[in-house]
Formats: sequence, structure tokens, C-alpha cells
Amino acid sequence: MTIKGSVLVTGGSRGIGAACVRLLARDGYDVAINYARSADAADKLAAEVIALGRQAIPIKADVGCEADVTDMFNRIDKELPPLAGLVNNAGILFEKARLADFGADRINETLRVNVTGSFLCAREAVRRMSTTHGGSGGVIVNVSSAAARIGSPNEFIDYAASKGAIDAMTLGLSKEVAADGIRVNAVRPGLIHTDIHASSGQPDRVERLQAQVPMGRGGSAEEVAEAIVWLLSPAASYVNGLLLDVTGGR
Ligand code: NAP
Repeated sequence: MTIKGSVLVTGGSRGIGAACVRLLARDGYDVAINYARSADAADKLAAEVIALGRQAIPIKADVGCEADVTDMFNRIDKELPPLAGLVNNAGILFEKARLADFGADRINETLRVNVTGSFLCAREAVRRMSTTHGGSGGVIVNVSSAAARIGSPNEFIDYAASKGAIDAMTLGLSKEVAADGIRVNAVRPGLIHTDIHASSGQPDRVERLQAQVPMGRGGSAEEVAEAIVWLLSPAASYVNGLLLDVTGGR
């Protein structure tokens, strides 16, 4: 099947986002690779995609900043085929801590990037893909987390709550725009080998906790990306409003 259109992967420079970019290029999509700071990684990944014969543009934008987000989508309009999909993947967490020690700055920054960022990108994608707005339909995949149902006690309840908000947005938006030709789903990864754990001061977190996983191991970024690109694809054409756990059964 010929797939037309481009997909924006937020936080596409590293980890799960970068794995999505590679699989999307493999499957014939053109991609916009968003990043906040990792320009070198995004540039190298774009070169890899172009070598596969697809179009790719790295775009620096803070997803929690409204002006950055609108500029990013305007560039995609100008430089890539019409938008067919969004992977709302950019996400952050802070040092492991108990709620009693949280400050407002930390809570607000987590919500700004993880929640406001996903809402702003979803808004711009809907404005372009919705048949009501003159678009041809499309797909949004939100990257939530198993933390949304586990709650991440003693580590980062603020992060878990931000992912709970993403789950609620997925459920609401999937119903709001279904008749406009847009499917909205979420993937909830478990313990995945990426750099994000170092941000919480626990670079060995997956190794330490993997015994809790029924499958006995952490997952790879590629294993999560496979679920995301399936949800984006026409093979998932009747899947809408799903929160899909990719956790090895945890
Ligand atoms: P990662 O390796 O730390 O990569 C995070 C990505 O997000 C990077 O590309 C980073 O770009 C980008 N980013 C951070 N802040 C941004 C901002 N304000 N604007 C735009 N981009 C920003 O993380 P990951 O593990 O791949 O996580 C990806 C998603 O999966 C996140 O939403 C995370 O919550 C979720 N998740 C991960 C796990 C896990 O175990 N790894 C489990 C459950 C859910 P720069 O490099 O340029 O900063």
C-alpha cells in the first residue's frame, strides 16, 4: 500500500522517538524530527532517513512553548507533504523524590512539557488533518506510560500524573475527532532502555527493576516504536481510543 503524507515525531532525536523515526522511514513515511537540545542527534537521524529515500527535516522546538509549536507546524506545511500523523512522544521527568519534597517549579515544568506540549501539538495536528478543517484525516499516537496506572510512588508522582492526563486526553480527543477522520490512541510503555532514567538520577533503573516484569527484562525503544507505527498505520484502521500497554506484562 502506498502511504502518502508526513508524520511529526516530537522528541524524535533520541530514545523511543528516534526508533519511531527509523521505523516510519522504513515503512515509507516522510518525517519531521522534533528536538529540544540534541541538534547533532536529530541531524544525523535526518541524514539516515534521507539515505533511505524519504524526506526528513530536523526541527528545534520546545513543545511546551506555543510559539515554537506553531512555527514548527508552519515549517512542516511548507517543507513536507501534508501531515498524516503525529507521535506525541516528547517527555521529561525529574530526579527521583517523594511528593513531600516537590517544589512548584518541578511540577509545573513536568506538566508544561508533558501535558501542555502534547495538547498544543495535538491541536495543530487536528487543525491540519481534520476533514472539518479541510484536511484528509490522520492519526495521533500519544506516548503515555504505565506510570499513569502504577502512580510511581517514591520516584515521580508528578510524571505519573502528567501521563494520567495524557490518557484522559486520548480518550476525550479520540471521541471528539473520530467523525473528522482522525484516530487517537496512546501507547503506555513500561521499563524501556533509554536515557530518560538517567534524568531521574537512576541510569540503572531498568536493570534494577526488571525482575518485576513478568517477561523478566526491560523493553527496547524499537519494541515500543513497533506498536506506535502499527497504530499509525492503515492496519489499525478501526482502532480508536485505545491505551495500549507495551510493558512485558508489568
Ligand atoms: P529520552 O530518551 O529522554 O528522549 C526524550 C526526547 O524528548 C528527546 O528527543 C528530547 O529531545 C525530547 N524532549 C525533551 N524535552 C522536550 C521539549 N521540551 N520539547 C521537545 N522535545 C523535548 O526519553 P524516552 O525514554 O525515549 O521517552 C520518550 C517518551 O516515552 C516520553 O514521553 C516518556 O515519558 C515515555 N516513556 C518512556 C519510558 C521509558 O522507560 N523509557 C517508559 C514510559 C514512557 P532533546 O534530546 O533535544 O532534549
